[in-house]
Amino acid sequence: MMPWHIVRHGLTPRPFGYNVQSCGTEAYFLTRDYPMNTSFVYNPLFLNHDTGTGHPERSARLTAAHELLTQQTWYGSLLQTEARIAESIWIDQVHEPHYEKRIRIACRGGESHIDTPDVMVSSESYDVAIKAAGGVLEIADRIMSKEADNGFAMVRPPGHHAEADHAMGFCLFNNIAVAARYLQKKHGLERVLILDWDVHHGNGTQHIFETDPSVFYISLHQSPHYPGTGARSEQGIGKGQGATLNCPMSAGMGEMEYREAFREVIMPKAMAFRPDIVLISAGFDAHAADPLGSIALSTSSYGWMTQMMMELADKCCDGRLISVLEGGYDLDALAQSVTEHLRVLSQNSAD
Ligand SMILES: [Zn+2]
Repeated sequence: MMPWHIVRHGLTPRPFGYNVQSCGTEAYFLTRDYPMNTSFVYNPLFLNHDTGTGHPERSARLTAAHELLTQQTWYGSLLQTEARIAESIWIDQVHEPHYEKRIRIACRGGESHIDTPDVMVSSESYDVAIKAAGGVLEIADRIMSKEADNGFAMVRPPGHHAEADHAMGFCLFNNIAVAARYLQKKHGLERVLILDWDVHHGNGTQHIFETDPSVFYISLHQSPHYPGTGARSEQGIGKGQGATLNCPMSAGMGEMEYREAFREVIMPKAMAFRPDIVLISAGFDAHAADPLGSIALSTSSYGWMTQMMMELADKCCDGRLISVLEGGYDLDALAQSVTEHLRVLSQNSAD
C-alpha cells in the first residue's frame, strides 16, 4: 500500500506526479500515515575548516542555515545524529591509497591549499572533512537499522568535485561516494541512485562510478560552467554505459526546465533503475540568488525536488533516502532552501 499521498488543493491524488503542470505556485501537502523520522547531522566542529577571508565556501554558510533551522517549531523532532570519524577502510573504497594520509599530512602540516588553489585548508580541515564523511555514514547506519526513515547531513567541506586522487572545487573527500560504497559493502545494498542538483556538475562522483552499473549518477547542472564536465553525451563507460545521466541546463533556466527534465527523463529512468536507496548531492547554488550560478530556482523548488525524490524512494526502496549538503553560497537563500528541504524530508508543515 502506498504509505502516503499528495493532497493538492483538494484534487484527486495523482500517480507519481507526472501530470503536475506549471511551476512554483502550487501548495503541496504531503501526508503520511506515519511520522517521518529524519536523522540530522550537524556539529559546530564543521565550522573549524577555515578557508580564509573572502572564500565563498565558509563557515557562515552552516551558521546561517543552523540558526534558521533552530527557529522552526519542528526542529526538535529531528533525530540529532552525531558525526563520527569515517574509517579509512571506507575512504579507501573511493579514493586512491595514501590519498587520505596525504590530506591529513598537508592540513596538519600547515599547507594553505591542496591540489588546486580553490581548495583552501587550515590545520583542522582534515579532522573536519573526515567527520563530514563520517556523518553521512552515521545517517546510513540509522536508516539501515530503521531508527530513521531518511536523513540530511549538513556538513562541510562539500564532496562532489573530489576525484579519487585529487582535491578540487572546495572538496576534499567525496562524502556521497564514500557513503554509496559503504551502503553497498557494509549494508549489502545493490543499487544506489545519486541525484546531484548542485549547480555545478559533480565530476568526482561521475568519474568514480562511471564504469559501475550498480551506481546510477544523475546530475542537473548549469552548462557551460565549472568544472566543464557533464555533457549530455557522457552516459557512462563500459559496463557503466547508461548509468550516468547528465541534464545540462543553460544560464537563466529555472523550475520549468527542471520540471520537464524530471518528468521526461529523470523519473522514468530512475524508476526503471529500481534503486535500493536514493542519495541526494544537495547543493543549493542553483537558487536564483546564488552568486556562483546563473540558474533561477526558488526556495520552493527545493521542496518540490525533495518531494520528487521521496516519491521515488517510497516507490522503490521503503523511503530510504540520504541527502548530503554540497554547495550554496548566498547565506539567506541557503538557509531558506535547506530549511525547506529538511521540512519536506521530515514531512512537517511550514511554520
Ligand atoms: Zn556547486
